[in-house]
This record gives sequence, structure tokens and C-alpha cells, in this order.
Amino acid sequence: MKKWVYLFHELDEVEKYVGGNWDDVRGLLGGKGANLAEMTRLGVPVPPGFTVTTEACNAYLKAGGKFPEGLWEQMMAALAEVEKLTGKKFGGTENPLLVSCRSGAKFSMPGMMDTVLNIGLNDETAQAMIRLTNNPRFVYDAYRRLVQMFGSVVLGIPDEAFEEVLDEFKRARGAKADTDLTAEDLKELTEEFKKVVRKQKGFDFPTDPYEQLRLATEAVFKSWNGKRAVDYRRATGIPDDLGTAVNIVTMVFGNMGWDSGTGVAFTRDPSTGEKKLYGEYLLNAQGEDVVAGIRNTEKIENLAKQLPEAYQQFLEICEKLERHYRDMQDVEFTIERGRLWMLQTRNGKRTARAAVKIAVDMVNEGLITKEEAVLRVSPEQVDTLLHPQFDPKVIQEAKKEGRLFATGVNASPGAAVGQVYFDADTAERMAKEFKQDVIMVRPFTKPDDVHGMLAAKGILTSEGGATSHAAVVARQFGVPCVVGASSIQIDLDKRLMSANGVVVREGEWISLDGGTGEVFLGKLPMTAPSLEEQRDLMTLLEWADEICARPGIRKGPEGFPTTGLQVWANADYPKDARRARAYGAKGIGLCRTEHMFFEPERLPIVQRMILAKTSEERKQALDELLPFQRSDFEGLFEAMDGYPVIIRLIDPPLHEFLPSEKELQEQIITKRLQNLADYVLGKGESKDIAELEKILVAVEAMHESNPMMGLRGVRLSIVMPEIVEMQVRAIFEAAANVTLRGIKAKPEVMIPLTGHINELKWIQPRLEEIAKQVMKEKGVEFPYKFGTMIEVPRAAVTAGEIAQIAEFFSFGTNDLTQMTFGYSRDDAERSFLVKYVELGVLPKNPFQTLDREGVGRLMKMAIEEGRKTRPDLEVGICGEHGGDPSSIEFCHLVGNNYVSCSPFRVPVARLAAAHAALKHAAK
Ligand code: PEP
Ligand code: MG
Repeated sequence: MKKWVYLFHELDEVEKYVGGNWDDVRGLLGGKGANLAEMTRLGVPVPPGFTVTTEACNAYLKAGGKFPEGLWEQMMAALAEVEKLTGKKFGGTENPLLVSCRSGAKFSMPGMMDTVLNIGLNDETAQAMIRLTNNPRFVYDAYRRLVQMFGSVVLGIPDEAFEEVLDEFKRARGAKADTDLTAEDLKELTEEFKKVVRKQKGFDFPTDPYEQLRLATEAVFKSWNGKRAVDYRRATGIPDDLGTAVNIVTMVFGNMGWDSGTGVAFTRDPSTGEKKLYGEYLLNAQGEDVVAGIRNTEKIENLAKQLPEAYQQFLEICEKLERHYRDMQDVEFTIERGRLWMLQTRNGKRTARAAVKIAVDMVNEGLITKEEAVLRVSPEQVDTLLHPQFDPKVIQEAKKEGRLFATGVNASPGAAVGQVYFDADTAERMAKEFKQDVIMVRPFTKPDDVHGMLAAKGILTSEGGATSHAAVVARQFGVPCVVGASSIQIDLDKRLMSANGVVVREGEWISLDGGTGEVFLGKLPMTAPSLEEQRDLMTLLEWADEICARPGIRKGPEGFPTTGLQVWANADYPKDARRARAYGAKGIGLCRTEHMFFEPERLPIVQRMILAKTSEERKQALDELLPFQRSDFEGLFEAMDGYPVIIRLIDPPLHEFLPSEKELQEQIITKRLQNLADYVLGKGESKDIAELEKILVAVEAMHESNPMMGLRGVRLSIVMPEIVEMQVRAIFEAAANVTLRGIKAKPEVMIPLTGHINELKWIQPRLEEIAKQVMKEKGVEFPYKFGTMIEVPRAAVTAGEIAQIAEFFSFGTNDLTQMTFGYSRDDAERSFLVKYVELGVLPKNPFQTLDREGVGRLMKMAIEEGRKTRPDLEVGICGEHGGDPSSIEFCHLVGNNYVSCSPFRVPVARLAAAHAALKHAAK
């Protein structure tokens, strides 16, 4: 005869039946049943009970609602066993056994299926319970709940039928809450509820405990196919043929006097991770009382004074459960007349801070391995720890109060609260001179806004996407930022912005969350991470690095790295490089040299260089720029002593260094008007106009319809080689100077936007010549490389050829995504991309998460082809995807040596790299 029923202490038999696999145990007993059985095996006191298997449920449903042969008899035998274990009798009139009948499928489906409590109560057993507890109110409350729950769950009577009676009853007695009802009231109410059953069903509420049990079990079986459960399975992909188990568990009561109680606890503090029991309880109370907050709960440690024996046992059980599950547990317990019962245990939910501390502590306690610790913390949790945050409760509250002002792209994580200013100069002045917390708001930002962005606590733009200037700069400097909040209209003249009819004026406060892209009105409170957690985090990240550095953790064809990914950083200034190194970067993967051209003392020289009529004139300006660049580079090499530093040669179109046509025209008109006034006043004419007009002519001449696809990158270097010649000289002079001071410089010169091998053939040898010349002049040698970015699809497709010249590749996935999709990286989010993601046309924003099938395929091909030509080809990524966990996993899989991202994302990337290494570890 098939075994349909297992007592909680029959786990060994279950394991034998399913073949020893824990997953199959859960399949047969359901998650809850398996867990109760496992606790029983551990010797933890669990109220005696048994589980009716999922197989029984499936057989019942298949037979059109009939118990399979032997089931009822087995249930009766198991019940008799439970009676023995508890010394109570089901339906007994002295010490009656009451049970609950609880659903429990393999996968948790919270609240989707049915449960009936207090089965076994009728007029006789109720009397016995009153004698035992001396608490008629509790007994009648349990009784009326049984009739109500049984009526609705088992007999299918609509809830309202009972609610109406209850409301009427309370009204008649002037009771506001259920708790105002007396024992006598509840006794009467039970009778009223029984009348509801009779009226609705035409028969009486079953007072036979066995009939109650049988009908409740059937109801739980049937609830597997209830609408709620079916909908839930559709939504979560749980298969329909699993069925639910039914757990019949002895009821234990925490409200049987002052030697009884009930509570919940975490084995460690779930918000700080501290190794200290954290929980609360109430004496002489039921589980609901703890949750409902009707009475003030006590801190768990006070139980030591009130019920010392039970408390001591509880401590030991918590310790045992933690050791067994090797994780922090969230437990529920009840003490009935001094006797402790554990009702549930599961891995506890925790904050990011606690997750890190618990993982590190458990390694030190010898409970888990470093690998497990690393896997237990998610990259998102690390991200949370590195930036100030808003508490989720605060956000919820703010939304309820209608303070959500706008939503945009979550460009750079962290919370920021400040006063709004609409231009960089004002933002900087308010921050520096008036010590205000400032949020800089612009339609979009440009390189000459950077001083305002740096002074700001947060940045908000109404246009642009995840790789727009604002987003890139904000991430680089760790400033929280929301971009492309397109519902916002900014009126720069009136100095205000509005969204959906709400107006925010300059100087007013807003709060923005760069992690979610949400912007709120007014000031929201923030929490900042403390140093102590950072230490745990640093330890965890060192373990992550150790894992990645293990030779053999990755397998691939010849030339492919056998260790995991390294994490490098994108950094333009020595200060960023120092931060990157402190955060654990092992190199600089991208220094965007042109950012240095925007410094106020340099920009005029750059402009003079651009406007130069002759090569001579240009060289003269460049000679003035050279010392600036050299000292920048020296700083970078010093900061990264011993590590490679990739310096990219000038990339953007030159017009970006000049004022816009519109700006120039306005300036010229203003000057003309002023001249006219001066003329009338007899002051003579200003000479500036000619200068401005000269610039305007140059700007007009440089106009391109598609500047992103125009004269930039390597194209600019070929047309105007003097600039990159100066840059290479500066790089090598700097490297030579620091080498002479004992620093290990490893410069790598990167040529941007290559699309054809001939471009490299034309420019690279000239630059290498300069490199050699400088080393000769200075009389020093150091290792160096020349390589290219792969950011044009043609370069990826012809990577085999390109690797003949290039010694390294770095994927510029911002441009590569732009050019592979044909989406403008500056406009796509604003015009259609956000909609695309909303509609599911694209699964993710490809400027944030690498598109593996398209852009990723190009990368994979380029790496394979490149390494065929040059087996030791160094491969990295320096687009924004270099800091995104899913993209990092992909880079691991296709054989990158490293990923490079902004310094603030380095810790997240280190953890993500270790996750990828462990998840795909070579066997
Ligand atoms: C890229 O295109 O991915 C890149 C890193 O270069 P930039 O963003 O400066 O164009
Ligand atoms: Mg690029």
C-alpha cells in the first residue's frame, strides 16, 4: 500500500523513498512540511504532527475529489501517534487535542492556499479547554474563529455573511473593536455564526472533530486549483502538477497563563548584523497579539528573567538552527505552560549592511567559506553601502503624501537633498560661498558645466540618457544623478521648473534618488554608511579579489585568461586615480584626456590651437599645453605606481571646445548694442567684436550634421596630427620623469574610434616613433603599449586585422551600442528608449546593460579574432557597462582581461567579477 502520510519524525523514510535528494523531499512534503520534519530530526521541539503528501493531493484531484485508498486510515493512525506524543486526545473532553490544517507546496505561495486553525473544537471540547485554561474568552474566540474560517474556507460561504453578523453584533453591544467583546459575547457570536452556516448551507456546522479534519484536508487539496493559486502559478512559473501537501500540526497556545507566551526572533540583528538575538515576545498572548501591536511587546532578552529555562533552551535552539542552516534564521516560537515549541524557521531577510557583516562574521566563525560569503552579498547591496540612502519607509511615506515630483533614468546611485539651481555658476557659488546643499538642474549638461556638477550634491536633467554627459560625469565623481526626467519643463528665464502642474522655483528643496531615478519635493532624511561597515566590506572585497586572481578559475582557448576579471577604473585626474586605487582598482582603463582641456586656464590655449591658421601657430599653442598634460600624467602614474594606465588620445570633435553658434551670436549682438551706446556717448568702439566674429566663422565652418559620426577620434588625429603628437610626447615625458624618480610607470596609449586597419597603420608608427625618441632623450626605458578602442562595428568585425597593429583592445561600449543599434546615445532615452523598455520591446536599456546578442556578439567575435592574430592581446571594456553586474558577467564569459568603470563603481564591479568567476568556475 502506498504511503500517503509521514509523521514529522519519519524524515529518514521520506529520504529513502525519494532517493535522498532534498529537493525531492520538498517536492513530496512541501517546503513547510520538509522544514518541520527537519527541525524534528534536529531534536528541536516542534509540535507533533504529520504531513499528507503532494502525491495524495494529486491523486485526490485526479480522482475528481476522492481520497485515494488508505489515506484516511493512514491519517487516523498518524493522529493516534500524535495523541500519544502529546498526551492529548482529539475530541477528548479532558485534555483535548486541537490541530491546524495547513497548506504547503514545494515553492512558497504566500497566502494563495488555505489553512484552518483550531480544528477539534466543539461545545464539549470547548468546555474542557475552559477548564484547562481558565480563560473562556480565549476559548470562545478560538471557537468562533473556527466556525468562521471553516465556513468560508471549507464550506465556501462568502466572508461578508460572517462580517455582517459580526458588525451588527458589535453595534448592538457598542463595541468598537473585536477586543471589546467579552467571553459571553463571543460565546453568543459562535452560535450566531453557526446559524449563518445553517442558513447558507442548509446543514449544521460539523461538530464531529473527525469530520472537521476530513473536510478541511479536502479543502486544502482543492485550494491548489483555486483561482488565486492558479493565477499565482501563472505569474511565477510554478508548474501546475506539483500539488500541495497538507500539514496537520498540534495547536499550541501561548495564552494559557503567565507561564505561556509567544514571539518572533532573528538569530542576529537583521539591520546591523550584530551577533545578538533580536526579537520580541508577549507572555499570555497569541501570535496575532505580537504582530498586531495591541500590547507592548517585550525585548527577547527579558525572557531570561521571566522564563529562564525556556529562554535558555531557546538560545540553544537558535544556535543549533544557525549552525545547521549556516545562515541567520528568522524563527517563530510559542511557550505553552513553560514548554517551548518552535513553529517555524527560515533564512532571515536583512539589510545590505547586515548582509555584509553576517557573511564576514560567519567566515571568521568557521561557519561558511569565503566563496559562500562572497556569493551571499549582491552587487546591489554593495552599491547601497557606498552611497547615502533614503530609507524605503521614508520613500513609501513620501509617495503616499504625493511628493513624488518626477521620474527619470537612474544615472548615478545615491540619495541627495538640496536646493535647486539652474546653472553651473550659480550652483557652484551657492555651494562654495553660501555653503548650501545644492542640486543642479539643467535640460542637459556640457563639459563647461562640470564645476557646477562637482559642487552639487545631486544632478537632475530633463534630457539625455544613461551615457549622456551628465550621467558619465556624475558616476565618475560619485554624485547622485537622475537624467532624462522628461516630464519636467525647465524655464531658465523664470528660474523655475514644473512637472504635472507642480512648480519648483530656484532655491527650493528637492530630494533625488539616483538609484531609482525618483525625484521628490522637499527634504527627505538620509542615512549614511559608517566606517565600521566599510571595514567588513573591504574584507569581503579582498576575498572577492582573491577568488578572481586564482589561476584556473576560467578556462578558454589559447591566449584567454585563466584567472577571473580584474577591475580597473576610468579616471581623468590624479585625485580620481587615488580614489580608484583606494577602492581596489588594479589599473586605469580609460583616461579621457580632453577633460583636462576644459580647465579654465587651459581652454583659451586650446581655443587658440583650434583657431590657428598655420601648423606653426598650432604647434605654439600645443607647446603651451604640453607641460599641463605632462604634469597631469605624472600625477596619474604616481597614483597608479606599478599598475597600467591607459591614456586615450583626444576623442571629441573640436567644436566642443568652442562656444556654440547661438551663444556667439548673442554675445555679438550684445556687444553691438553696447558699442552703439558707447558711440552715442562718445566712448569709441570696442575691439572684441572682431575676435568674436572670427570664432563664429570658425565654428560655422566646423559645423557637422552628425558630429558623433564626424571629425573625431582617430580621424581627427590623422587630419590634425599635431595634437596627438603633443599628447604622446607628454605621456612619455611624464612616464620617463616618474620612472627616474623610482616609480613604475606602465603607460598604454589608446587610439579612439578606429574603424579601419589603415587608420592605425597611418598614425600609430608615427606616435611610436615619438615614444622611442622621448625614451632615448631621457635615457630611460619602461614597458608600454599602443592599442585601440573598439567602438565602431567595423573595427569589431575586422578585429583580426586590427590586432596586427593594436597591442590591446578596449571596448567603448557606449559608442559601440550607439552604432550597433543606430540609437543616439544622447537622445534615445528621451525620445523612445524608456518607452521601449516599458513596453517590453527591449528587455533592458542597452546603454546600461550590455546587449549580449548584438553588441555582445560583436565583442565575442572581436576577442576571438583578435587573439587568433595576437594570442596575448589584452582586452578590456571602458564603456559605462564596465560597472554593471550583468555586463561584467558577460565580459568574464567572453574572455576580457579586465573591466574598467568609474572609481565609485569599482567595489561593486569587484564583487560582480567574483560572482561571475564562482558561478562559471571551470570544473
Ligand atoms: C565609449 O564609447 O564607450 C567610451 C568609453 O568613450 P566615450 O564615452 O568617451 O565616447
Ligand atoms: Mg567612445
